[in-house]
Amino acid sequence: MSLTLEGKTCLVTGGSRGIGRAIALKLADFGADVVITYSRSADAAEEVKAEIEKKGRKSKALQADAVSLARAEEVVNEIVEDWGKLDVIVNNAGITKDNLILRMTEEQWDDVITTNLKSIFNYSKAAAKPMMRNRGGSIINISSVVGISGNAGQSNYAASKAGIIGFTKSYAKELSSRNIRANVVAPGYILTDMTGELDEKVLEGIKAETPLGRAGEANEVADAVVFLASDMSSYITGEVIRVDGGMAM
Ligand code: NAD
Repeated sequence: MSLTLEGKTCLVTGGSRGIGRAIALKLADFGADVVITYSRSADAAEEVKAEIEKKGRKSKALQADAVSLARAEEVVNEIVEDWGKLDVIVNNAGITKDNLILRMTEEQWDDVITTNLKSIFNYSKAAAKPMMRNRGGSIINISSVVGISGNAGQSNYAASKAGIIGFTKSYAKELSSRNIRANVVAPGYILTDMTGELDEKVLEGIKAETPLGRAGEANEVADAVVFLASDMSSYITGEVIRVDGGMAM
């Protein structure tokens, strides 16, 4: 059996740039129709939609703040009404607001937990009924190695990313009997706008701590997502796949 996503309808949150963009394009490369959501960058989102259509696949770019459950339900309902079903959700939207605990503000804590963790509850909950009706589905949640190892200066981010792992395993246990799988991809240090903001010295330190000795690319995270989206992973649920060059082993 070769890996194909033909006939599958996928949703990627925060798909206008970085890892989300790479995931959306790669899902389309393997034959899926792909909806992306974005928070602000309409132009970048339209560009991703056009690229997916150039590959001969259907696409939509929907404005949706991932923190809203009501909007998540609208997005999922729109996909199901227009395209008949939703097979795969990739919960990718995420932010960082780093600070040491002594200096961290309540707002920094709340923003990161809400954007990174509640968003995953929102879309996973919204998709549950349509996926049950469709007799199956795959939820892929983007966590981080920081959620496994912790990181000084990122307690809010690490807590949100560790929370994603606990949520995903619980969701998998609740919905496996309906053939809905839920898995986590935990990237290490990947070159995107998010990591571009880090200090050069910090980046060199991260590379030195990575057994494969280099930063990862968004495409390499997308490869793991494609596998989890496909029927090649049909007996895998509740799993955490690190894409981190060995950083957290
Ligand atoms: P990025 O900042 O380039 O992209 C994040 C995306 O999420 C953007 O498209 C942004 O618009 C979207 N987003 C943020 N808040 C949103 C909201 N409220 N509603 C809708 N969309 C929202 O970052 P990235 O590096 O591509 O990160 C993607 C995911 O991968 C994040 O969850 C991040 O935590 C995770 N991750 C990244 C790395 C890395 O090294 N880059 C490592 C581990 C995990």
